[in-house]
Amino acid sequence: MNTQSETQTAALVVAAGRGHRFGGELPKQYTALAGHMVLRHTLNALLAHSGIDVVRCVIHPDDCDLYETAVHGLDILSPVLGGATRQDSVRLGLQSLNNQRVDKVLVHDGARPFVSLRVIDGVLKALDNHPGAIPALAVADTLKRGHKGVITETPARDGLFRAQTPQGFRLTEIIAAHEKLENEQDLTDDAQLFEKLGLGVALTKGAHDNFKITTGDDLMRAERLLASRFETRIGSGFDAHTLGDGTFVTLCGIEIAHEFGLVGHSDADVALHALTDALLGAIGAGDIGHHFPPSEEKWKGAASDQFVRHAVDLIHQRGGDIVNVDLTVICEAPKIGPHRDLMAARVGTILGLDQDRVSVKATTTEGMGFAGRCEGIAAQAMVLVRLPL
Ligand code: MG
Repeated sequence: MNTQSETQTAALVVAAGRGHRFGGELPKQYTALAGHMVLRHTLNALLAHSGIDVVRCVIHPDDCDLYETAVHGLDILSPVLGGATRQDSVRLGLQSLNNQRVDKVLVHDGARPFVSLRVIDGVLKALDNHPGAIPALAVADTLKRGHKGVITETPARDGLFRAQTPQGFRLTEIIAAHEKLENEQDLTDDAQLFEKLGLGVALTKGAHDNFKITTGDDLMRAERLLASRFETRIGSGFDAHTLGDGTFVTLCGIEIAHEFGLVGHSDADVALHALTDALLGAIGAGDIGHHFPPSEEKWKGAASDQFVRHAVDLIHQRGGDIVNVDLTVICEAPKIGPHRDLMAARVGTILGLDQDRVSVKATTTEGMGFAGRCEGIAAQAMVLVRLPL
């Protein structure tokens, strides 16, 4: 993000709506789509554009917890609470950006997750020559006006467009327009404010995939679209460390009291080492020894969660994310059962995954082999990762 320039371009994401139009309990921007909330997909699409410097959401006061889950770990501004109507919410959001050196603002629907770099480019470029700009699609279907189920008219479709978002404006001008027209609450998009004030709004090229998720059918279309853009990768990892002097072992980042300790250059957390290798394996990025050579002094005694986090960063840098992980610890002692939930919770925190996507299991080898003789502890990990095609 370009935070050095004098002026900034902001994206204001409107996510304060309460629409339950497809019968679910959740507002549509918080509905799950391929493992993440719709809003997170939308924010990632905006954050991917290098011309957008800051991103802020306007949310409903009842949705603070949902919002925190949706945006966990994303580099965006704190949210603003919305008002009674969409128009009020947008105005409050715009006003909150007024002290952020923001010049241009893109107002975008929280439930429009497939906005492309090209669509955003088009709006930003048009703003150089127009007070406002919106992406739109020419109407292709013949239009009918109806009354009580019967056609009353066939309006000409020439020159008619379907409006999309992001809708771009100069911040000071759109705030002024909102404040001036605060009492006209029947406006369904922001371009209408400019139209009423006689300010020119350019039409730029919209995209069919840039649809707003409003119905259950939209959600299914979104799932299909995402599935066609990603591939699923599998990764596996295995590690073993010897047991030696010590009073505890570290497994999945949790210290468990034991009559021996695990021996290794770092904290010797076999479970997190196996997990790191599985994550790296899924994206063909080598192994833990390649990224963190045991010969380097700085990894002596290191907490192994940083190895996992590095692998997760590499996956995120490729636009991917983790679907689930399944870890198995192989040892006779200590007993893993009493610590299993804590270990799984810790792994979930490190990976930013919900608990139902993290599994930690344990097994013995019934006295056989090095684990059976309590000479060491081993762990194996499997992960699924989604990567963009
Ligand atoms: Mg190791």
